[in-house]
Amino acid sequence: CYSTTSGIPGVRERTLIAVKPDGVQRRLVGQIMQRFEQRGFKLVGLKMLKASDELLSQHYHDLNKKPFYPNLLRYMTSGPVVAMVWEGHNVVRTSRMMVGDTNPAEAHPGTVRGDFSIHISRNVVHASDSVEGAQREIQLWFNRKELMDWDCCDHSNTYQV
Ligand code: GDP
Ligand code: MG
Repeated sequence: CYSTTSGIPGVRERTLIAVKPDGVQRRLVGQIMQRFEQRGFKLVGLKMLKASDELLSQHYHDLNKKPFYPNLLRYMTSGPVVAMVWEGHNVVRTSRMMVGDTNPAEAHPGTVRGDFSIHISRNVVHASDSVEGAQREIQLWFNRKELMDWDCCDHSNTYQV
């Protein structure tokens, strides 16, 4: 599953997807993971954890002046999170489309947020919003050893090899 062998640029692009505490509490983890698997993306990292204030302050470094930030921290530390790294061509952009608008009221049906949530304060899932942001977030949430390099046996049914 390497871009060098497939000839398709960006096949090894990665993104951080996290099922937030509301999604875990509501037992949506399986359904959310299924969407990424069935799309054809490759799971290369997976763990359940209670996010610390320190991790979240780095993760949401651009939001710490926002009025909703204290509530966001309380929400994100209210229970375990399931963090995942998904890999594939254009995965950052495609997964933002699959996740839907930040505000579930604007998220289209068929997206995770559009199917499973109503209010911006409980929007079920996180997805990195740029390739650079994804690299930064993956390094924050995962050690190198926790990320798996593995070949998908049906690679040629997902990409032209
Ligand atoms: P995302 O990338 O789509 O998750 O959106 P942002 O990076 O802009 O915001 C991060 C998270 O902060 C969102 O997913 C929401 O959980 C929360 N958030 C953003 N804007 C608001 C807001 O106006 N009110 C509340 N309560 N939460 C917000
Ligand atoms: Mg964001």
